[in-house]
Amino acid sequence: MPSGVQTEIKTYQIHINGEWTDSKSNKTLPVYDPSTEEVIAHVPDCNAEDVNRAVAAAKAAFEDGPWATTTAQERGRVLFRLSEKIRANLASLAELECRNTGKPIVEAEFDINDAATCFEYYGGLATKVVGYVNPVPDNAMSLSLKEPVGVAGQIIPWNYPLLMAAWKLAPAIAAGCTCVLKPAEQTPLTALEFAKYFSDCGLPPGVVNIVTGFGETCGAPIVQHPDVNKIAFTGSAAVGKIIVKQAADTVKRVTLELGGKSPNIFFADADFEAAIDGALFGVFINQGEVCSAGSRILVQKSIYKNFVDAMSEKAKKIKLGPPLERETKMGPLVSKEQYDRVNEYLAVGKKEAKLASGGGRPEKIAKGYYVQPTIFYDVNNSARIAREEIFGPVAAVIPFDDEKDALKIANDSPYGLAAAVWTRDIFRAMRAVKALRAGIVWVNHMQPTYVEAPWGGYKQSGFGRELGPWGIEEYLETKQVFINLNEQPIGWY
Ligand code: NAP
Ligand code: MG
Repeated sequence: MPSGVQTEIKTYQIHINGEWTDSKSNKTLPVYDPSTEEVIAHVPDCNAEDVNRAVAAAKAAFEDGPWATTTAQERGRVLFRLSEKIRANLASLAELECRNTGKPIVEAEFDINDAATCFEYYGGLATKVVGYVNPVPDNAMSLSLKEPVGVAGQIIPWNYPLLMAAWKLAPAIAAGCTCVLKPAEQTPLTALEFAKYFSDCGLPPGVVNIVTGFGETCGAPIVQHPDVNKIAFTGSAAVGKIIVKQAADTVKRVTLELGGKSPNIFFADADFEAAIDGALFGVFINQGEVCSAGSRILVQKSIYKNFVDAMSEKAKKIKLGPPLERETKMGPLVSKEQYDRVNEYLAVGKKEAKLASGGGRPEKIAKGYYVQPTIFYDVNNSARIAREEIFGPVAAVIPFDDEKDALKIANDSPYGLAAAVWTRDIFRAMRAVKALRAGIVWVNHMQPTYVEAPWGGYKQSGFGRELGPWGIEEYLETKQVFINLNEQPIGWY
């Protein structure tokens, strides 16, 4: 094992109003290392009482605290300092993320660095929020002002823990909001470590509060709380639907970043070697626990057989192993629950389609929630493994005849988060870009995204956009100011 790995079991507290505290009930929940199946920490198991405390702190900070009068410049500087702190602690944060999620250390380092970049980006954007002078008649002046929406409730998944927290916290802080963040029950540790930097970085108490616990008992009270003005949610479509319904009673603004079943489309003229790599990377990165995973691999019939053979040959060589080892390309799935879920889909897939490679546990690994990179082929787009998000290393390869056929299959999904197309024909690529109903379309690549560019879904992959200037917009209200320039009385009565 690399040196410096923490072995003691830590007990964490939650962060409310700049202080560390236990849950009111004193209950805790265990946090695991999915590669050893052992408990590595305990965190508070919060309920509505704790959420009430966190929301009260966020509301007070928004209304009465120094935050209410903090300038955009100062909020920007806080974000730059947070970014620097993350980079200064990159090694330890990445190690913790790696142990808690099971993702390979090299990927964890990339994610933590990306989280720092996100804070940096919104540090710069904080001072670029501007209003408008609206073009109304000369006897009035009309202005549009941008103001923070208030208290933001933020609920995130376990696949990119600190990065998802960054996508939510950075634009909210830049906008001048205050936050109550709930990390996923499986992966709360890096967000809690991050909170240790707040006071050093000049973030006033109550601006960011972090509560840990389960969705039903800690997430739902955030969604239902009347003093929370906005919910930003990333997670499954099933929970997203519950959130929209629960937020309706208090007419909250909601943004949803949900799942996907994204098509990765390969035409016969694509660079074959790059295509094989792109197909594997698109679906197996982060053990396939990626919202935009290219889990439906559409391949033109003329290259189909060679493609499936080459892909499965290469998939068999992907190095599974302890996530802290730098050569590891795939670690375990995040939890026993996810492992069982993915295994159920492997059984379904074996009935619905043909298996090219993988299909179970790697033989040589005794412990941990490992699943082999698995490729099913001759999959019909109506099969469950082509329609339902598996969120694990499972690819469904689907043959197609021509461009029209490919685009029809690609769009035939309840989801619309992402899509990719591989071809050397620029005209075909651009036709596909226009036809694909998805929040992002990659051409001759799959997965890279940047904090400067928008992220979000079409259809049941959600609504609202994160990142870039779109991300801060979701945390801003627009207020119109009307100034009468007519010195005469209105003269109506
Ligand atoms: P999940 O089960 O939907 O959970 C997401 C978060 O919601 C967790 O913090 C969860 O709490 C909480 N939650 C559950 N029920 C709730 C309720 N009734 N009220 C309020 N909060 C509730 O998703 P997951 O399994 O963690 O993550 C995987 C999903 O996230 C996949 O569908 C994936 O596609 C999606 N995802 C989307 C994006 C994107 O950008 N579009 C990015 C990453 C992931 P617990 O801690 O109890 O689970
Ligand atoms: Mg969950």
